[in-house]
Amino acid sequence: MALTVLIVEDEVDFGAIVALNLTRAGFSTIVAKTGEAGLEAARTRRPDLILLDLMLPDVQGTEVVRRLKADASTRMIPIIMATARGEEIDRIVGFELGVDDYVVKPFSMREMVLRVNAVLRRGNGAAPSGEEPSYTVGPLFVDGPAHRVFLDGREIELTALEFRLLVALVTNRGRVMTREVLLERVWGIQADIETRTVDTMTKRLRDKLGTLGRHVETVRGVGYRFSEGTQEP
Ligand code: CA
Repeated sequence: MALTVLIVEDEVDFGAIVALNLTRAGFSTIVAKTGEAGLEAARTRRPDLILLDLMLPDVQGTEVVRRLKADASTRMIPIIMATARGEEIDRIVGFELGVDDYVVKPFSMREMVLRVNAVLRRGNGAAPSGEEPSYTVGPLFVDGPAHRVFLDGREIELTALEFRLLVALVTNRGRVMTREVLLERVWGIQADIETRTVDTMTKRLRDKLGTLGRHVETVRGVGYRFSEGTQEP
C-alpha cells in the first residue's frame, strides 16, 4: 500500500503541484488548506508523513506541530516544515519541536520528494519514543540507542555533548547548521553561552573523527556542515 503524505498548504495551486509530484513518486496524498483541517486529517487519516507549511491562515505551523506532538495519536508522524523565509529556519530547527526536516520555499519538487523519502527512510517517526535512531555514514556508525560511535568498526570515545553535536550534524548532513541552532540542539539552551563554545567543541569532535573529520566543514561566518561525500576511494 502506498505511503500517505498529508500536505498542509493554504496556497491551493502550490499544494496541488506538491500533491501531483508526490503522487508521481508513488505516494498517496491528502491536502489540507488550514492548520485546523491539517490537525483533523492527521488524527483521522493517520498519514505516514506531514508536509507542513509554516505560514497558515488560521493556526501557525509551529503551533500545529506542538498540537500534533501533544496528541498520542499523531505524535509519531514525521513532519517536514515548509518555510518561505530564510530567517525562520533557525526558529524551526532550533525549536526542539520535533520537526524532522524542513524545506525552504520555493523548493524544487525533486528536492521535496528526496526529503520526504529520506525522512521516511530514516524512520524517525517510527522509532519508539525515547529511542534514538542509528546512522551509517560511510565508515561511521552512530549507534543511537547505545550512544556509541564507531569509525571503521573502532569505537570513538565521545562525551554526551560531542555525541549530540555529531548526531545534529549527521542527521542534517549536506546542510549548514548555524552555531545558534547547534547551541539549542546540543546544549538545549537559547544562546546563553557563547557561540564560540560550538567552535571549540566542533574542533574537538573533528579531531576525534580522524580521517572523517574533514567532512565536518566550516561554513565561514555561519556554522558547520557535515558533507555528504563520505565515500572513500
Ligand atoms: Ca502559506
